[in-house]
Amino acid sequence: MEKGIPNFLYSKLEVLYNNELNSIISGYNSKRKVTFRVNTSKTTVLEIEEILKSNDIDFSLVPWYSEALIIENVCEEDIKKLSIYENGEIYLQSLSSMMPALVVNPLDGESILDMAASPGGKTTQMANLSNNMALIMACEKNKIRADRLKYNIEKQGSKRINVVVSDARKLDEFFSFDKILLDAPCSGSGTLNISDSKICEVFTEELVSRSVKVQKELLSKAISLLKVGGELVYSTCSILKEENEEVVNSVLTSGLEIVPIDENLFDGIPLLPVSIDGTICVCPTKLYEGFYIAKIRKIK
Ligand code: SAM
Repeated sequence: MEKGIPNFLYSKLEVLYNNELNSIISGYNSKRKVTFRVNTSKTTVLEIEEILKSNDIDFSLVPWYSEALIIENVCEEDIKKLSIYENGEIYLQSLSSMMPALVVNPLDGESILDMAASPGGKTTQMANLSNNMALIMACEKNKIRADRLKYNIEKQGSKRINVVVSDARKLDEFFSFDKILLDAPCSGSGTLNISDSKICEVFTEELVSRSVKVQKELLSKAISLLKVGGELVYSTCSILKEENEEVVNSVLTSGLEIVPIDENLFDGIPLLPVSIDGTICVCPTKLYEGFYIAKIRKIK
């Protein structure tokens, strides 16, 4: 057993990832660097780099995403004091959570559903990636979190986003979408804060099984809202197979196929083994949160 990691989780990880267990634990123990995405609808990466330099803030680039920056020498609170944060020219976001929107690849004119959207990191990223030309419905069940989502959309100046405050499982099937992102509520086993003294009260087996139930229901609903030929991206910040591959397998039928995620898209990312080829599971490290991403196409 390992200090700070709930016993049941440790046992599960030991079975799932025996060879990678030490890397996962060292990832849990690392303090992650501050990272953010440049809001290219308001500014440019070059302008942000100049502002960081003039504030003596060291940064490095992300090989797979030119709009992401890694901060080397200051903490999140320092970044939040900058005007570029205040006026929405940057969005604080973990590197792993920037990946799903890139897999969605939202394009001009496409109808896109972001099923579990708040606080809106991926909603606003998808708007940016499409130059604010995709038509995005951002659904969020929790009213307070939906207000946060609206605030962030406003602050980022993202356009063509319709926020719907609803349980996504109850969305009217009158709707249909070209692409869907289901960034599902999850146990958070990929982002475990093991310095939290209350971790064993918060991170429980019950939390995992409750998450799995909702994930399966949301994913089934997503499939029914997807147009034939449309693509769906399922992601979680969990590294447990029961919340990832097992959820995906539970809905796969002959009408659906896995679309392999291009390995070259995320060059150099630390990966964990997966049981569905073409899906990816990111190992927690000092740069990355643990994360899972699968892409599914509806073929009939
Ligand atoms: N995609 C978000 C982002 O990038 O900023 C993070 C989403 S967070 C992992 C999951 C969100 O789903 C939470 O805000 C939660 O309130 C919401 N949620 C949970 N169950 C839901 C449901 N049945 N329908 C819609 N939203 C739901």
